[in-house]
Amino acid sequence: MARAAVLGRLNWLVGQLADVREETATARTLILDVPGWPGHLPGQHVDVRLTAEDGYSTERSYSIASAPDGSRLELTIQRLEDGEVSPYLTMVLSRRDPLELRGPIGGYFAWRPADSRPVLLIGGGSGVVPLMAMVRTRIASGGTAPMRLIYSTRSPDTLLYAAELERIAAGHADLDVDVVYTRAGPPDWAGRVGRLDARQLRELAGQHAADTQCFVCGPTGFVESVARLLIGQGIEAQQIRTERFGPSGGTA
Ligand SMILES: Cc1cc2nc3c(=O)[nH]c(=O)nc-3n(C[C@H](O)[C@H](O)[C@H](O)COP(=O)(O)OP(=O)(O)OC[C@H]3O[C@@H](n4cnc5c(N)ncnc54)[C@H](O)[C@@H]3O)c2cc1C
Repeated sequence: MARAAVLGRLNWLVGQLADVREETATARTLILDVPGWPGHLPGQHVDVRLTAEDGYSTERSYSIASAPDGSRLELTIQRLEDGEVSPYLTMVLSRRDPLELRGPIGGYFAWRPADSRPVLLIGGGSGVVPLMAMVRTRIASGGTAPMRLIYSTRSPDTLLYAAELERIAAGHADLDVDVVYTRAGPPDWAGRVGRLDARQLRELAGQHAADTQCFVCGPTGFVESVARLLIGQGIEAQQIRTERFGPSGGTA
């Protein structure tokens, strides 16, 4: 009901694909110009609507990857080979093509840069996208909140934003980035390979401050398992915000 009321106030806007950035062999960032874009908070998403010539229409949600930047918006789409929408967005949509979208949607899974409390971001697979928007906003706004990103992905081949994450990890005090590889690490990788567990989370995140804010995003199975780990480490449920991307049982 509340979502229906909010969406009722949001108009469909027509963006234009200004540019693309290939992130991995199966993921692409769409850089869009969206006249009339009202601005967003990092963590929010948009609905994208595709309409075929025969009038058939379908919608999907995509998190905003970029920090607020006028009418510019970036979405990072992970292609599912048997998917209906993601193959179109990653392989067919071309520069200067229009794209219908509405948003921003979701005020709960959003980080406000004026908030100086410590932030722990944990993303699995493309669940890193809204967390990247938070990291980018923290940098662009000159915020001071200590922030740590733990990003779980299968292997170096599936790592989104690889070069940017490396720069961020090297160049920003109080902004830490750790990658957890679940299937295979880089050739010189001395770290562990496998799903994030309680011990590794404790090692990476250290002692949680009493007011730490946690944002967890990814496939449903990943989000539920990480939320359980956080609760097991003494984080209160109200300190944990979650966003689930896919069908249940998925992992990253
Ligand atoms: C709030 C929100 C934000 C999202 N943000 C992003 C984002 O930033 N980037 C992004 O790439 N995706 C994101 N998603 C997922 C996105 O909405 C689509 O579900 C995804 O692109 C698949 O759509 P599709 O039409 O290609 O596949 P579909 O035709 O819908 O599905 C094809 C097959 O894949 C399975 N499937 C569907 N979704 C997933 C999934 N996420 N993981 C694994 N299997 C799946 C289906 O059960 C089906 O078997 C987000 C979802 C939500 C709810």
